[in-house]
Amino acid sequence: MNGKNLQYYVEKMKRLKIDRAHGPAPHKPVLLLSVIALIEDGQVTENRIELCPELAEAFIRYWSRVTDRKPDISLPFFHLKSDKFWHLHPNTDYEKALQVANPLKGISRLREVVSHASLDDELFLLLTDAIDRETIRQTLIRTYFHEHREQVGELIAEAQQIGAYRESLIDEVESPFSTSKPRRRTGVNTKVRDAGFRQAIMRLYDYTCAVCELRIVTMDGESATEAAHIIPFRVSQNDDARNGISLCKLHHWAFDRGLFSLSGKHRVIVSGLMSDKRPTEWRLTELKDKPIQLPDRVKLRPAQEAMAWHRDNVLR
Ligand SMILES: [Zn+2]
Repeated sequence: MNGKNLQYYVEKMKRLKIDRAHGPAPHKPVLLLSVIALIEDGQVTENRIELCPELAEAFIRYWSRVTDRKPDISLPFFHLKSDKFWHLHPNTDYEKALQVANPLKGISRLREVVSHASLDDELFLLLTDAIDRETIRQTLIRTYFHEHREQVGELIAEAQQIGAYRESLIDEVESPFSTSKPRRRTGVNTKVRDAGFRQAIMRLYDYTCAVCELRIVTMDGESATEAAHIIPFRVSQNDDARNGISLCKLHHWAFDRGLFSLSGKHRVIVSGLMSDKRPTEWRLTELKDKPIQLPDRVKLRPAQEAMAWHRDNVLR
């Protein structure tokens, strides 16, 4: 035993080295809450923490609940190394840049130099255990967010509900697809429903438009793609992953207006209404017959019944 047990890390969390020179700036505890959220949600499954949009998005979500100051995830991502349980790993050829005493400023520079961070193996193991993880999380909340504990608690509960709803949509593909679901799920509000459906579809399609393959994701978690229902939710009440598809904003608009649809072989059918004549490779008519991008797992691909409904009822 090297003594690095739960109690050791609870004490560590209570004594994070925090610069209070410019007033309360809970960068480090917010980053740790964000890492914990990603581990809990199954987005971080090994001891390798990348400065990815999902982490930045979680950071901003917590940050905005506890302070009005401008968020900067690069600060704690770099400085947490002074607490000795957080280790930075350089990209190849950047080993020296990481050794210099000067902090790396800004997300771009940090991502250029640092490949990822890792935790002490002992700490990572504790965070993969639901009970130990909660002990560490509650320590952070009690120590740094006492005033905002309710808001932070609400955020954690909401993320858990969204994750559970997302997983239920993936599990649904084990049952036959239905074009309408009159029964309302109890206890799931619209915000959780929308966010869970979006998460399920974005993860299946990796934030990529299934039609044009556009993928734009910013470091604060914004993306140019949307989770579209094939049979609209108001008609089907169905968030089943097989009733969803990831589309860029333009193609979502065109799909909902019946300017294109999908064949039984997951290829693009273009409406005869399309009148684009200008010689540009981006025009919608050029997408005719193009096979769309699909999730690897066949069961999770758009359902035949949903695509047929869209052809019969929306395609013009
Ligand atoms: Zn597109």
